[in-house]
This record gives sequence, C-alpha cells and structure tokens, in this order.
Amino acid sequence: MDSEKQTQRTAAEAGWHVSRYNLSAPIPGGNSVAIANLYKGSCAPYSSLELYLMSVLDEISEDHPIIVRLAKRGVIVNFDELAALQTLSRGSATGFRDVGLTICPTLGCNFDCPYCFENHFAGRMSEEVQDDIVKLADRMLEASAARKLSITWFGGEPLLAPDIIESLSKRLMELAEIHNAGYRAGIITNGYNLTPDIARMLGECKVEYAQITLDGVREAHNATRHLAGGGPTFDRIVENLRAPLPFHVSIRHNVHEGNRDQMEPLKALVDQLAEETGNSISYYPAPVAASTVADERGKQVGLLCDDNGADVGITQDADRFNGARGLYCGAQNMWVVGIDDKGNLQKCWEAVDKPELSFGTAHDWDPLNPLETASNLDNLTQYINLANPVPDDECRDCVWLPVCAGGCPYKRLYEERKCVPYKDTPEAYVLALFAKIAQQKAAKEAAEARKKQEQEQA
Ligand code: SF4
Ligand code: SF4
Repeated sequence: MDSEKQTQRTAAEAGWHVSRYNLSAPIPGGNSVAIANLYKGSCAPYSSLELYLMSVLDEISEDHPIIVRLAKRGVIVNFDELAALQTLSRGSATGFRDVGLTICPTLGCNFDCPYCFENHFAGRMSEEVQDDIVKLADRMLEASAARKLSITWFGGEPLLAPDIIESLSKRLMELAEIHNAGYRAGIITNGYNLTPDIARMLGECKVEYAQITLDGVREAHNATRHLAGGGPTFDRIVENLRAPLPFHVSIRHNVHEGNRDQMEPLKALVDQLAEETGNSISYYPAPVAASTVADERGKQVGLLCDDNGADVGITQDADRFNGARGLYCGAQNMWVVGIDDKGNLQKCWEAVDKPELSFGTAHDWDPLNPLETASNLDNLTQYINLANPVPDDECRDCVWLPVCAGGCPYKRLYEERKCVPYKDTPEAYVLALFAKIAQQKAAKEAAEARKKQEQEQA
C-alpha cells in the first residue's frame, strides 16, 4: 500500500528540483541547449523535450525514466548542494592524503620579470634550516599518517641552489620510506639553469613535473622574461627543453595584452618540441593577475588583459573542469605548508617573501599542537577558515561557487575578492566546456576504434 502511494508522488514531491549550479547556452546551428552542471562536473546537450520535462518536475512522476538520466548528470538533485559544498570544504581543509611542502632553497632570482609577485632577496637556505625541514616533515608525517610526501621546489629561482635540492631530496625521500609513504616532487623554475645534468639530477630526486614559463616565441618572451640586469633567455630555455627530460614539463604562458597574439605560435612551438624530442611537454595559458608587489614596483600597468583575461581563463579552466572542489588551493589545507629560505612557514606561496605573514617556523611548529606552536595564529587560521566560503554572502549566492571555491584566499585577505575571470560570460564558458568534452569523447572513440581494429588484425 505504502509503495503504491510512493509511486504516485511527483518528482518534486519526492524532493527533486533543478540544480542551482546549472549554466546553459544554446548550441549554435542546432535545436538543443548545452547545460553545464558545475557541482557534478557534467556538460551535455539537452533536447526541447528534456528541457520541458525538467521544467515540470511538479507534474511528472518520480519514476519517470528522465529523472535518473538528469540526476546522473547533476542537473536535477534531491539534496541541498550548498550544504554539501560546505561539508566538502570542511573535509578538504583538514584532510591529509598528502603532506605537501613548498620549499624555497633561495628567494634569489636570475630573472627580473615585470609582473612577478615576489620581492627577491639573495641568500641560500642554511644547513640548520634544512635540518629543521626534515624534522618538520617527520612530525607532519607522524601526526597525519599521510600516505604521500609531496614536495614543490620553489623560489626565487630554485635552480640557483641545485645542491640544496639534491641533498634535501635524498633526506626527504628516505624519510618518506621510513614512514611507508610515497614521495613525489615538482619544481617551478624559469628553466634557464635546467641543463641536461641538472635535469638528470632532478629525475633522480623523483621530480615528476616542472612548470616553466614562456611568454611567447623569442622576442615576445625576451621582452618580459629577461635576465636581471638585462639579457635574453628564450634560446637557452628552449635548448634545455630539447635535451632528454625525465619528467613532464608544463609550459605556462603568462598572457597579457602585449603577448596575447603569442598563444597560437607558442602552443605550436611546444607541440613541435614535444614531437621532435619525445619529451612530455604541454602548454597552458594563464592570464596575468594583478599583484601588490608588481604594482608597487610600478611595472604592472599596461600588462593586464583588457577584459580581465576572460577568454584565456575559459581555455585554462575548461581543461580542468571536474565538478565541485572544496578548496581553492593548498593554502587552505592544514597539511600544506610553504617554507622560505630562513625556515619561516607560510600558508600561501605568494607570501614566501613576506616574513610578516608567516605563521611559525620549521623549527618550532608542531602539527600535533598546531595552534599552540604557531607564532602568529591569525596567519594560519585565516586561510583555513576561508576554505569554507559559504558564509560569504556574495559567494553563497554565486552560481560559480563549486568551481571557484571563493577564489584565491590571499587576494581576499590582502587585496580584493578575485572572481573567476569569465564570471560575466557564462554562455562562452558552457560552449567551451561542451566543445572540450565533445573533443575528448571523439578522441576516446577513435582510440577504441583503433584498438578494436588492431585486435581484429592480430
Ligand atoms: S592563496 Fe592564492 S596566491 Fe596563495 S597559493 Fe593559494 S591561490 Fe596561490
Ligand atoms: S569569488 Fe566571485 S566568482 Fe567566486 S564564488 Fe565568490 S562571488 Fe562567485
């Protein structure tokens, strides 16, 4: 009797409603509409009939077959998505699959890029600080029981101190083994000192990826990414990329008004390098963002994209569209820490050059007692507490919240809220996602067809 009664409920009576995180755009040249669901991470075409059924959930039965189809893609839901996001954020802020350390062996740099957010100080990490880092990593692995130690070499320019990277890597790799944890590393470098010997050493130190910035092809790159005191850098970096590289290299293109036309040629160059060398190299564009340091140095003006980088941001984010995330970045997780060359701990790597924003030291901070051993508690808690942007009025009502997670916490704290650059162009975003997903589907189908053909021929 009860089950009979249940099947008579409408979908709306059963709790189904249209997701608050749907964005839609008419598909050019067709009769259907693309809907992206930002919570679930889906993007698919919908016919007029499907759209109609979605609009009459208070009339159709909860057993209508369309319900399962729409629910699978997250475009209709029967739960409170905002509450789910809140729980996701809280879990992500304290979860500890990895212990992540961003280590700066030096804050010195051999380049002088006009948009750089860092003040550069000469100097190298001392042996005492290196000892403190190993002990800190030990405490963090012990306290968290994390399964992986994840290191990012950062600076300044970390390859000005390759000896520190080599010796500290060996100690940290041994430590991970003692804790029965995995180990992986990456490096953010300008690529100038990435000679074949250094690349080999990094490979032995389990560096799995490197991020290198090129601002365009030769002249365009040299115009902004030049040596401190002047001098081109492009040819030497490209020469380094031609040698065998035992890790993946991601070429970051800082896009600004002066080099926006370089996106195509630079991507072509990267593809060509990958093909000719067999190295794993990929390209991604990133809009240059405002930075206090660069502003103070008076060099930023005129470099920002005129429309705040909406199209570049769409290209960048369509590639990594994967549904709701709990955090904007690792700075909001308790087990991710940045360490400058003096052993000061920071939540955000944009702050590694600002000791006044440090929350403690590698020597003293104890993750088993994180609040008592922090020397500046606010510098720790304000990042962690921003992991949950839901209390923020504007974010709470914002359709972009699942993918934006409230934006960069450093900018919120010290500059201004940094919304997704394509906030006002949702249709362009949806269509870019739609094209991307169609492309991936076509590539998958082609690969499957090839495999089938090979099996038939065998
Ligand atoms: S807080 Fe912002 S600047 Fe700092 S690491 Fe996170 S995203 Fe980067
Ligand atoms: S930072 Fe801006 S785009 Fe992001 S969720 Fe908040 S209001 Fe939306």
